[in-house]
Amino acid sequence: MAKSPRPGGHGPTPLRWPRAAPGLAAAGLLLAFPLQAAPLDLEGYRLVDLTHAYNADTVFWPAPPTHFKLEQLHYGETPGGFFYSAYRFCLPEHGGTHLDAPIHFARDRETMEQVPLERLVGPVVVIDVSGKAAADRDYRVTPADVLAFEAQHGRIEAGTRVLVRTDWSRRWPDAAAYLGHATDASKLHFPSYGEDAARLLVEDRRVALLGIDTASIDYGPAADFPVHRIAAAADVPGLENVTGLDALPSRGAILLALPMKIEGGSGGPTRVVALVPRGSAGR
Ligand SMILES: [Zn+2]
Repeated sequence: MAKSPRPGGHGPTPLRWPRAAPGLAAAGLLLAFPLQAAPLDLEGYRLVDLTHAYNADTVFWPAPPTHFKLEQLHYGETPGGFFYSAYRFCLPEHGGTHLDAPIHFARDRETMEQVPLERLVGPVVVIDVSGKAAADRDYRVTPADVLAFEAQHGRIEAGTRVLVRTDWSRRWPDAAAYLGHATDASKLHFPSYGEDAARLLVEDRRVALLGIDTASIDYGPAADFPVHRIAAAADVPGLENVTGLDALPSRGAILLALPMKIEGGSGGPTRVVALVPRGSAGR
């Protein structure tokens, strides 16, 4: 049986899905895939939604405008005898579960529609600092946290997506509890990445994306947003206000973070989903 040649020169390294499906290979169905990758067998995974719903309570950065608005255009029976509903919505880019494109903190960098899908889909690790965040709401992830994770779970490989778990999502949508202050952006207190950990992850480990279950990849009191700037300078997008990270293993899951494709945008609503291997325990 002829085998397809290994495709080359198609950009980033293809994803290596962690499960093989020999039955499909025997049936010749591997031909559509790069030879070094196994087909993705969705039966082996459960889908976990890491996204807050948009509604009137959605938490936004406390600088106006700060709300999601859903306006009804039509709702009800039509003269034709059938039901029809339609709405329009309006919101700032940076609220709810959303992506930061690199141009958010770096001039001339990628805008929303330019962020490569390869950064948004693929293996993800979860660094759990929820205990430290519970003791200090201004906690910042340190290089020691990253190294401790690696000592236990293995080195974070280049191109991996990183999510930090603080369990702050349990405070959603109480803006005062979640942000530290509901309306004054100079009085925010919530945990996030520290500058040195961001440098280690972005510049040394060369991760694909930084995400977190708080409002920002910089901690609440940050005045000059060093983590945003380190990430943006390396074309690393940010993923903010994710939820449900207690359902993910430390490593082994596949992240799919697909933002609204806003041409020229600096950020926007993103449906974030993880494929979690069945049998792997969320912690
Ligand atoms: Zn943002």
